[in-house]
Amino acid sequence: MTHSLPALPYAFDALEPYIDAQTMQIHHDKHHQAYVDNLNKALTGTPAADKTLEQLMANISSLPAAVRNNGGGHYNHSLFWTLLGTGGGQPSGALADAINSAFGSLDGLKEKMSTAGATRFGSGWAWLIVKDGKLEVTSTPNQDNPLMDVAEVKGAPILGIDVWEHAYYLKYQNRRPEYLSQIWNVINWKKVEELYNTAK
Ligand code: MN
Repeated sequence: MTHSLPALPYAFDALEPYIDAQTMQIHHDKHHQAYVDNLNKALTGTPAADKTLEQLMANISSLPAAVRNNGGGHYNHSLFWTLLGTGGGQPSGALADAINSAFGSLDGLKEKMSTAGATRFGSGWAWLIVKDGKLEVTSTPNQDNPLMDVAEVKGAPILGIDVWEHAYYLKYQNRRPEYLSQIWNVINWKKVEELYNTAK
């Protein structure tokens, strides 16, 4: 299969002022497009060419680094765009209950995710995952994710925050913790809830 760049489900400036339009445009049109192009290049003519992205993640240890980096990049960003939005709001229902029981409160979860993102050295992602039916916070380096067989902590990602500098540098420069505190204003909790209900 040929992998392709999904359209951004909102305008580039939809997440202003928390995430600026120029960052969104470069991030989606240039960075994500490059992961897609390089993934297709790495897979062409190989037995992994007909695998789905999820199948690639599950067997990533047996695949070349280019598939790990660009396949992870494609998976992570495709998910990330859907996790952001302008609806605002709060987690509700079973997800809200699970957050309260695992982290004490929504603020407890935010703090744990922000710490995971701020302490990930270099580039990577902070994740909220469902593991054995329970919520857990983890982080991965580079474009790895918790679906990969090489991940230290494996599970189903229901929320991921990109902490690569390309995700925030134009607006926040070196202030990653500030980006991590502001991104909560544009989390699409309906999507997180949908993923939680599927994963648990
Ligand atoms: Mn990114």
